[in-house]
Amino acid sequence: MTPLLELRDVSRHFTVRRGFFDPTPLTLKAVDGVSLSVDKGETLGLVGESGCGKSTLARLVVRLLDPTHGDILLDGDSLVTPGTKAQTSLTGRLQMVFQDPFSSLDPRMSVGRSMAEPLTASGRSSAARRRERVAAMLDRVGLRPEHASRYPHEFSGGQRQRIAVARALISNPDLVVCDEAVSSLDASVQAQVLNLLRDLQDEMGLAYLFISHDLGVVGHMSDRMAVMYLGRVVEYGPRDALLRTPAHPYTRALLAAAPGRDPSRRTRRPALSGDLPSPLAVPTGCPFHPRCAESIARCTDDDPIWHTVSGTGQMSHTARCHLLASGL
Ligand code: SF4
Repeated sequence: MTPLLELRDVSRHFTVRRGFFDPTPLTLKAVDGVSLSVDKGETLGLVGESGCGKSTLARLVVRLLDPTHGDILLDGDSLVTPGTKAQTSLTGRLQMVFQDPFSSLDPRMSVGRSMAEPLTASGRSSAARRRERVAAMLDRVGLRPEHASRYPHEFSGGQRQRIAVARALISNPDLVVCDEAVSSLDASVQAQVLNLLRDLQDEMGLAYLFISHDLGVVGHMSDRMAVMYLGRVVEYGPRDALLRTPAHPYTRALLAAAPGRDPSRRTRRPALSGDLPSPLAVPTGCPFHPRCAESIARCTDDDPIWHTVSGTGQMSHTARCHLLASGL
């Protein structure tokens, strides 16, 4: 089956200057050789620390950025190659919900006008139809149609995020990228917005690429998960397999550090130590080796390849670590 969305060996590198007085160019590898896929109606969770490249990946998927290498396909058709069918029919099919609702809601625009923007851009509906659709979506996310004439600052953080969700869904997209969409909300409001996203997924057959630094939230929402470290995916597989038998030491460290984890399942392994290295100075060998409690001699120079842990095809659980090589 052709996936709804597929990333094939996608990289996004930026050239930056070493310093104000030193023009020597350096390469910042924000996303480096990422391959993953999302099927129709499924949620792929992407988890990793702040600064690991998750948001750059989100922007590549919704075409706010171009990759420097690799391909992004929608229904098997390239979104990167100019003039493909996917590119010309893209309008509204991919949407995004940001952490800060002000990123998608212009504070100077009424909520109704902001929400109608994706429909206005497509040019396919009349003003009356747009008003109808705005009222219906506001109602669907638990707000009132008369809220359309108010401004974003008149709403609470949770209400603003509901409006951002309604705006993202108004054009009936196939896939919504949720980038830290509930991270700025307190726990009870977070749960309400997550439940809303799930209900809308069931009703509309949506797929989500659900991105967060919070393993608990990603684990709650996902069918499959990808763990990202320094611009690369290091573990990938079905949610239950990945959480029950994490194969990469980084995933194990994230799990050990996750708050609220069942104490009976805690391991003696140390939680994550040290800070994420700069993507301008990615360590040699396995990029995780300076922080890895389980590293072995070859980890400092030898970049690990992918190993299959279990399953096949879409259900395969894979990780990139020397400890999984046969004979170790
Ligand atoms: Fe740790 Fe080595 Fe595995 Fe990297 S390859 S995660 S350093 S054990």
